[in-house]
Amino acid sequence: MANFSLQIMNPELRKFLTYRLKLIFIGLFLLGFYSKISSQEYFQQEVNYNIQVILNDQLHELNAFESLEYINNSPDTLPFLYFHLWPNAYSNNNTLLARQLFQFYGKQELFNDPELRGFIDLLDFEVNDKKVHWELLPNQPDICRIDLEVPLIPGDSMRITTPFRVGIPKGVTSRLGHIGESYQISQWYPKPAVYDQTGWHQMSYLDQGEFYAEFGRFDVRITLPANYRVGASGNLQNESEIELLHKLSADTSRMNAANPVGKDFPVSSKQLKTLHYTADKIHDFAWFADKRFQVQMSKLKLPNSGKEVTTLVLFTDEQTELWKNALTYVNEAICWFSDKIGDYPYQNFTVVQSALTSGSGMEYPGITVISWLEDAYTLDEVIAHELGHNWFYSALGSNERRYPFMDEAITSFYTDWYLNDKYPDKKLWEVYVKDRQLARLAHIDKLPLRRMQELEWLIQARNNLEQPINLSSTDFTESNYGLMLYNKAPNAFNYLKAYLGDTVFNTAMQEYFRQWKFRHPQPKDLREVIEKQSAKDLTWFFVDLLGTTKRLDYKIVRIQNQQILIQNKGELVSPLLIAGLNGDSILFEKWVDGFEGRQWIDLPSDNFSEIKIDPGHLIPEIFRINNNIKTSGIFPKADPVRAKFLFSIDEPETHSLFYVPAINWNRENGFMLGMAFHNGFIIPKPLEFVVVPLYAFGNSDLAGFGRIAYNIIPFDNFIRRATVSIEAVQFGAPGQQNYRKLKTGLEVNFRNKKMTQPFNHKLIGNYIIASNLSQIELLVKAGINSTVEVGYLFEKTSLINPYSLLTSFEFGKTHQKTSVEFNYRLSYRGRNNGLDMRFFAGTMLNSDSEIPFYSFSTSGRSGRELYLYQGIYPDRFSVFPENFFSRQMTLSEGGLVSPVNDSLGYSQWLFSLSLSTNLPGRAARFPIKPFVNLLLNDRDVSTRQNSPFFYEAGLKVGIWDIFEIYVPLLVSNNIDSVSGSFKNRIRFVFSLDSIRKLKVIGYR
Ligand SMILES: [Zn+2]
Repeated sequence: MANFSLQIMNPELRKFLTYRLKLIFIGLFLLGFYSKISSQEYFQQEVNYNIQVILNDQLHELNAFESLEYINNSPDTLPFLYFHLWPNAYSNNNTLLARQLFQFYGKQELFNDPELRGFIDLLDFEVNDKKVHWELLPNQPDICRIDLEVPLIPGDSMRITTPFRVGIPKGVTSRLGHIGESYQISQWYPKPAVYDQTGWHQMSYLDQGEFYAEFGRFDVRITLPANYRVGASGNLQNESEIELLHKLSADTSRMNAANPVGKDFPVSSKQLKTLHYTADKIHDFAWFADKRFQVQMSKLKLPNSGKEVTTLVLFTDEQTELWKNALTYVNEAICWFSDKIGDYPYQNFTVVQSALTSGSGMEYPGITVISWLEDAYTLDEVIAHELGHNWFYSALGSNERRYPFMDEAITSFYTDWYLNDKYPDKKLWEVYVKDRQLARLAHIDKLPLRRMQELEWLIQARNNLEQPINLSSTDFTESNYGLMLYNKAPNAFNYLKAYLGDTVFNTAMQEYFRQWKFRHPQPKDLREVIEKQSAKDLTWFFVDLLGTTKRLDYKIVRIQNQQILIQNKGELVSPLLIAGLNGDSILFEKWVDGFEGRQWIDLPSDNFSEIKIDPGHLIPEIFRINNNIKTSGIFPKADPVRAKFLFSIDEPETHSLFYVPAINWNRENGFMLGMAFHNGFIIPKPLEFVVVPLYAFGNSDLAGFGRIAYNIIPFDNFIRRATVSIEAVQFGAPGQQNYRKLKTGLEVNFRNKKMTQPFNHKLIGNYIIASNLSQIELLVKAGINSTVEVGYLFEKTSLINPYSLLTSFEFGKTHQKTSVEFNYRLSYRGRNNGLDMRFFAGTMLNSDSEIPFYSFSTSGRSGRELYLYQGIYPDRFSVFPENFFSRQMTLSEGGLVSPVNDSLGYSQWLFSLSLSTNLPGRAARFPIKPFVNLLLNDRDVSTRQNSPFFYEAGLKVGIWDIFEIYVPLLVSNNIDSVSGSFKNRIRFVFSLDSIRKLKVIGYR
């Protein structure tokens, strides 16, 4: 276009434009030149360590001296260096580690306990034998900055030395620690942070969030009592120790002995030994020491290259049975991974069993630590995963903190592949249920093991709680760190492999490993290699699937003349796999590149009876129900409705209908028998229902309830989930009739701006028509009342000091009211101890009604005061205190336990404050809590007392908030005057809502 217009323009203008264009070209040239300067060539620093360390197993301390050579390969002059001093992460309650453990597990003031405290001190840094100025970062005592007197110029190196002492914490907090005289020594020595193209990467130690370090040589000498067995990164240099390990390995008598070495620690020998380890091209050094270790050792030849690797397994007698085959697991996995990706990058690999408190295994270069596991399969799995990290962590030294998917997701992907190869027929129940009968009962006896990953991810995805895979460790919620990195992302890589084909994928990954081994790859480097090797644009994978929460949902619309019409209902435009089936056998498979909207796709002329998108579950499809079509039949898209007894894991491909016999009892209906029908409640679905029709033998009538709900989960919207529901209830009531309720509800859950923040807010609206309760009480035929409820709930769901604030309005024909309820727990120490507070304030906006109970109740309501028929009441209409069930109440509004509503009536406005706490100290274990309730209302309450002020204090006993008995022992005169002896004030709460609440907190 530009050329054409230049030709027809007048010469003057043309000249001017040519001049302008020249300027632009010069500008572009300069810009190109400039950007070349700013995007520097790849470089990496080199750090070579020499460390001598002595273990003091009396004081649980390390005394050490470190000398390191730092080589500046960057084009920049460095005036200072950042060093990690990670044992200091355990030194006080303000470190980022302490704050993360507080946030995730409610661990408060953790490091006040001297046993849990760890530290690094006695540091005295010298650079080239001259003392230097250095200081800890403010609020990050596990990082220091060393100022160089002479800045380090590009290409130059320097020697940094320091003595140091490490106080080893009790090993129950994170990765560094000791359990008795069993030592896990990791992240223990002063270590320069990474300096790369984007600058310094100093980072505090965290439990969720791993590391980034410079490659170099290690020369480490460990001195400790001679009877310790040690596993460490690197290659052991002491011939005598190697011989000893071989001898111990050959001696299997210890393992077969009736009385194994035992759990007790042998006395440390007086004699010391110094073990010498060297290693090249590693970026961390960890070691583990225990006097009880059993030893198994072997020499292994890798496939293809024939390279020799020494493998070593160290474990205690606590799980001998489980561990006796561990060496085989190691050797098989090393060969498999080497064949798939490239040779195992070092000469030694060691697996150590130890009590680890940060996941089930943890990887270090050439060594891995594994905690107590339940069964052989899991041990094999964890060994394979941690071993896999020697490729995707040890050799490919990515920034794990910033891009945890580059190590965790890719390692998990290969682990899954390996296990799938090794155990192709493994079923889900074998690992997760263990009992075949039980698995059959739950209809999951045929489900393949690998489906678990998809199901767990689906729960998060269908709740619209996903986060992008390529986030930084600290931006993930605790559950998403697991579900996105270990469930969804491995599936994503499996998808990429299936799309590219094994050969292309393997070649690409081998090339990635070859190019980036012992370097610091970034996501763009991985992308560049795979795109080049596959000659494909993989934007859909690297940008959309890894970088967003766009969803994948292809739908089959119709089939016609050897063509199929498919619609992309999701946001992700990515390849899909179409297969033609005849029964269970696949006749053809065909990859189709991603598209938006609808597209006709040609089909081969095979004799298939069904077309399915992704029959092998290779794609992270969020809704599989629209993934198939039959080539014949009246309803070709209809999926079989699988009716199943009890419940099961809902299969994403079929409509499930579950039926469970239901029994029930209440006073009016008597014994009831029926059937509950539901469509599964484990994986959220757009449409969810439960219907429970019952026949009541007491009044020979029908009873029951049902709920049907529709969930909407919009993409990238301030609404996370909106639910529209209809609920219907019918049960017996006095006066030979039934009470009925029909509730239409809308619940809008909003999205948190920052998902890691523990906030939750939602809007609730209900329109309820229900039988007129006052007419039922008068034993006349009840008419129908309608009520509108609107509420807004704001919650802080943290484990420590959580709160919730509910504002609500209620509009009836003859009454309107509004109220605020605030619940707060002031946690003492840890999540389970605290002072619970409930504040309630309410006022009537209008009250024309003759019916008193529409106003605010002073005490918690009984069943026959609940005009909206909430809660589960076996004897809803009983009059207090005629029987046990009549003592049931719902803690609402005024919230007093003493039943004063009947005598002191209802209020136009009231304020109440309820307090309860657990017993102090060890007594907190008993499920008894003292409580105090205070209330002020508008009533001139009694002619006798004339006081609008109420109080009561007593004890409550119960489990959680589900069933609790309240005993008010001390009450104000106005309560005393109407309630009599304390026996008449005992009431209980039975609330299944609390179970639901527990569940919600469970998967956040
Ligand atoms: Zn891992």
